[in-house]
Amino acid sequence: MKENINMAQPMIGKAEKSAVLDVLESGIVAQGPVVKELEQKFADYCGTKYAVAVNSGTAALHTALHSVGIKENDTVITTPFTFIASVNSILMSGAKPKFVDIEYDTFNIDASKIEDAIDETTRAIIPVDLYGQLADYDAINDIAGENNLSVIEDSCQAIGAEMNDGKKAGSFGSAGCFSLYATKNIMSGEGGVITTDDESVVEKSKSFRQHGMDMNSEYQYAELGYNYRTTDILAAIALTQLMKTDELNNKRISNAEILTEDLKDIPGLIVPRVLQDRKSVFHQYTIRITDNFSLNRSEFMTKLKENKISSAIFYPRPIHTYPYLSDLGYSEGDFPVSEQASQEVVSLPVHPGLNKDNVDYVVETIRKISNA
Ligand SMILES: *Cc1c(COP(=O)(O)O)cnc(C)c1O
Repeated sequence: MKENINMAQPMIGKAEKSAVLDVLESGIVAQGPVVKELEQKFADYCGTKYAVAVNSGTAALHTALHSVGIKENDTVITTPFTFIASVNSILMSGAKPKFVDIEYDTFNIDASKIEDAIDETTRAIIPVDLYGQLADYDAINDIAGENNLSVIEDSCQAIGAEMNDGKKAGSFGSAGCFSLYATKNIMSGEGGVITTDDESVVEKSKSFRQHGMDMNSEYQYAELGYNYRTTDILAAIALTQLMKTDELNNKRISNAEILTEDLKDIPGLIVPRVLQDRKSVFHQYTIRITDNFSLNRSEFMTKLKENKISSAIFYPRPIHTYPYLSDLGYSEGDFPVSEQASQEVVSLPVHPGLNKDNVDYVVETIRKISNA
């Protein structure tokens, strides 16, 4: 193998290029008709009534939190084993994150531990659909209902993920949040989308992305907002990608199936588990390297690199251990499942740009270096 096998590869074809050219030639390059079309089609795809486009997944989370009324002195529950944006968006809204540990098998929030974390300040839960597999929304929505909490789905890694007979990511909570960052399953370089069935979330989101402007009277501002608008140029790319979501996801899923079939018997290497009723879209293919494996994790990753295979740790540090969050009062040992995961996980290339030979090469290389 001459070429390096990378962790991600944006899938850009003729359609994306000509869609961008069309926008450039139209003369409307900022937020315009293509953003609107993206919003309609995104909602259709996710099975929600509405969608609102913004300029990142982080902006989507911040906007969604604002739109369900999260403010200072509220607390919002999420896990410490996620991308930093899940937590920073809570801080951006003025609220306080409250952490709940993850499940060992799925790396998603352990719904059985949520109730203990709820107190009179709790207003919302942000479940994260980590690596492309949905969290346990049946249990989470039951708890949220009983305690009058909003559910903001962090589905940034999970467009097209399903459970309950085809119900899609973004359609379970008060609002769903997606990222169109370059490495995500569909992308436009940067970008984000909020999905919802709630008209008031739509209204508040559209105002919030436009400096808090009163959407019925131009240049009248009702409250603090931000410039979270995206552009027709990016929306044109996203729209083209959206049409290919299932195709791109299916390629990830078939790559993942090969990896799992051919790696599952290796001692000390734990392949990802997809629960019975779920369709994971494998944003990442994440294994655990445990003590029973022939090498430690960093040796394993070095060997892969020597063989021109990239790998990555998502995420190397559980968020409750960052010093900038020390005011929250957490310490190491508080979330043992998250802490163990951050010591053991390694994500392998699974993106749709890989062909069968690439995936077979990854398998052969891992079998060789693990003496399996
Ligand atoms: C990518 C991602 C985000 C943030 O998206 P950006 O578009 O990078 O702002 C949030 N949460 C998770 C879990 C992500 O993977």
